[in-house]
Amino acid sequence: MKRVPQVVRPPDLPERVTIYEVGPRDGLQNESTVVPVEVKADFISRLAAVGLQAIEVTSFVHPAWVPQLADAGELVEAVDLDAVPRMPVLVPNQRGLDRALEAGVREIAIFGSATEAFAQRNLNRSLDGQFAMFEPVVTGARDAGLRVRGYLSMCFGDPWEGDVPVAQVVSTGRQLLELGCSELSLGDTIGVGTPGHVEAVIGGFADAGVPVEQLAVHFHDTFGQALSNALTALRLGVTTFDASAGGLGGCPYAESATGNLATEDLVWQLAGLGVETGVDLQALVATTWWMAERIGKPPASRVATALR
Ligand code: MG
Repeated sequence: MKRVPQVVRPPDLPERVTIYEVGPRDGLQNESTVVPVEVKADFISRLAAVGLQAIEVTSFVHPAWVPQLADAGELVEAVDLDAVPRMPVLVPNQRGLDRALEAGVREIAIFGSATEAFAQRNLNRSLDGQFAMFEPVVTGARDAGLRVRGYLSMCFGDPWEGDVPVAQVVSTGRQLLELGCSELSLGDTIGVGTPGHVEAVIGGFADAGVPVEQLAVHFHDTFGQALSNALTALRLGVTTFDASAGGLGGCPYAESATGNLATEDLVWQLAGLGVETGVDLQALVATTWWMAERIGKPPASRVATALR
């Protein structure tokens, strides 16, 4: 079995991109198995050791909402927050920000919605009302010198509303950036997006004057489109890609085992394209299988399976 792809580098691709690893937070949050805090801390230090440059650690959400992440405070204490350049924690509200500041976190992420239905269900706010909730959190974080990433979910489709207008995605995304987010992660939360749609959304932000450097993409592989969509974004100049080791995390809004784009699958593609990620693929695959044993489930990643 060949262990690395042949490198054929097309012109006009970035030299290097950042993979923003979401396995410990988004991945484990959506797995039914609750992983002990020591295993999570070990997982994060293994992910740091394979060369990832950004790892989202956990979420300071109320423990009753997400039991899988109820150990967030303990985990952040157990983790070396200087292990890699970016180790953000998701923060839903002021209380979460206070906890992040106490813990010495240097970057937070907030989680917004591009649709009315998801804003109501996930945030208990209207589409427009969510910004008033985020404003003091983002301002407080920025005043304390923290970097803020904004997630925008349901950018390519919503399980309750169906299609989502591109103009609505662009206007909600711009409002998150205007609050003070330095990066906006465009989420295909249910994995329904296709490459032309990705082009339209990223083009919509470009037309609105948002620099592509501020955009990240968060694709789900529910319908097998994640890598095509990632390649489309790469060709349009996006250099930050969310992915989850082993594809950890099913899709919370579909009866599907396949959720987040698997980090290994993305790394293989980027390696073949001659785009640097800094990630040691074999070491990442070993980490993914180590984690798979702990949650008692094989990884969804094709590459992790092929390279086992
Ligand atoms: Mg996800």
